[in-house]
Amino acid sequence: MGTLGVLGLELIEMDTPPTTAYLQIYTEKRCMANCQFCAQASGSQADRNHIARGLYVPAELEPVVKRLKIAFERGYLARACIQTAFYDTWWHDTVYLIKKIRSLSPIPISLSVFPLSDERYEELQKLGVNELVIPLDACTPQLFDMIKGKNAGSPFSWETHMDGLKRAARIFGKVGTHIMLGLGESDEDAVGVIGELWKNKVNPALFSYTYIPGTQLVIHDKNENITGHYRKVQLARHLIVEGIAGYGDMRFENGVLCDFGAGSDMILSIIEEGEAFRTSGCPDCNRPMANETFSKIYNFPRKPDDTEIENIRKDLGLA
Ligand code: SF4
Repeated sequence: MGTLGVLGLELIEMDTPPTTAYLQIYTEKRCMANCQFCAQASGSQADRNHIARGLYVPAELEPVVKRLKIAFERGYLARACIQTAFYDTWWHDTVYLIKKIRSLSPIPISLSVFPLSDERYEELQKLGVNELVIPLDACTPQLFDMIKGKNAGSPFSWETHMDGLKRAARIFGKVGTHIMLGLGESDEDAVGVIGELWKNKVNPALFSYTYIPGTQLVIHDKNENITGHYRKVQLARHLIVEGIAGYGDMRFENGVLCDFGAGSDMILSIIEEGEAFRTSGCPDCNRPMANETFSKIYNFPRKPDDTEIENIRKDLGLA
């Protein structure tokens, strides 16, 4: 909906507009996979206009692509992010959309997809996809099986996703993934997988699990202090990707992160600066309100203000 607002196809008020165009390929068909958190899944009863909290209102392709070109030229949008479900003609539709965009504009394109063959990765690269994203979503093989693997009635496995990420990273030079927090994982589970992914040229973007009515996932042992957990993992991710501290430098007690492996002055200045708590992922992605409410912002779509920094300190138990 925010993308349609920036493209001038919907009249909406936004305090922070998206800097990336979020494009979900619309189909009447449900996805053949059954990721338990997802509105598109085969067993979901949810409205298909949603992915997480985001509302994706169907729009005509031609005006969207033409306006995308103009929005990129004028600096309103810096990237197009395409997401697709797994249905019979998904490859054909995805290639069609990429070619349509590329025929008009050099806007950087990200594509979020499941693991594919090396031949298809290479074809996507030739078509002009700049960043490939393969969402892992879970921090451990057990959580993966529960939310999108064999226990969820989905065709995916941790091993094939990890393999698909590593192969894509070799072909594209680097690759993106999504990690969803709030599924019952510990700080150590999350920071451990982030460290491992980063070592393999995989950039993990963080999301907070958001319940969508009609989806199948019911979380029994969600971390009680989800905000504190989220902030710690954001901070640890920042230290890892900036090369300030690695997973091996950090200390955990019973899965709880108790030492970031960097000096306290450094940690305080990173908190003050706020960058660690902004939306993570591909360059120029700010994903406003993708998994937030106005009272609880997990990923800041812009630099957090002084009050927000103060709240982040409280979330981290420092104020
Ligand atoms: S593969 Fe993607 S669209 Fe399909 S159910 Fe899983 S998350 Fe949803």
